[in-house]
Formats: sequence, C-alpha cells, structure tokens
Amino acid sequence: MQEVLEETRKGGDNGGVSTDQRIFPVKVNCPRCNHSLLDHAHNIDDHPSIRVTMSFQHKHGWLRLSSLYGVHGHESEYSIPESAITHFFCPHCHTELNGVSSCPECEAPVVPMIVRSGGMVQICSRRGCHWHRLDVG
Ligand SMILES: [Zn+2]
Ligand SMILES: [Zn+2]
Repeated sequence: MQEVLEETRKGGDNGGVSTDQRIFPVKVNCPRCNHSLLDHAHNIDDHPSIRVTMSFQHKHGWLRLSSLYGVHGHESEYSIPESAITHFFCPHCHTELNGVSSCPECEAPVVPMIVRSGGMVQICSRRGCHWHRLDVG
C-alpha cells in the first residue's frame, strides 16, 4: 500500500513547479558582504529559503523567501500588511539591501541580491507587488 502511494505521488509531480522551465532556483548573496543568504536548514518549495531580516512599521523580524525565481512564496515572523513596503537587511552584516532604482510598477524601492553564478536579481519591496527582474552578468 505504501509503495502504491509513493508511485502516485511521484507521478503527480510531473506537472508541478519543478518541471516548469521558467521557474528555477537562484543562489543569492548579500551585495555588501557577499555572504550567502540561503538557509539550508529551512526549505520553502523544496529548496533552501532565502533568509533576510525585514522591518516595517517599527517591527523587526525574519523573513524567508522562496529561492525559486518567479515564485512568490514567503514566510515571515510578522505578517506583512498587503501593499506595505518592507525594508530588507542582510542577516550577516545588517546592511539594508536597497538599490538605486524603484519598481517600474509601483515605485517602491527594489531589493537587489547578488546571484552566485553571476548577475543580480531584484525584487520589489512592496508586499503584494510581484515585480522582479533577473540580470545575468
Ligand atoms: Zn551582508
Ligand atoms: Zn512594485
């Protein structure tokens, strides 16, 4: 019985997230101290999560993002109100991860992270805005 269930689950994975060519994991580092931002002890969507410190409205806490590019799953210590702008900080050097540009869709600041294989990923800091961009350098 156990084996049959295993088989069924594997078969069901074929149409899932991991086979979508547009969705792939990115390994990101802090642009300032170059430490990894991946938390291998805590997965989201079966991949190591991206862990940063966030602050909004005088609250400070941890925030974990899916490291799958294009997936917007996240977990956080405090639930972020819809459309609130969140500040992201590196958990290692505590530098705010802020870029020079603003989101083309909602004008909130964008959050840059270094992609280990080269390039940079940027995400919008506003909760609920799904703008993101990957520049391969
Ligand atoms: Zn850092
Ligand atoms: Zn935005």
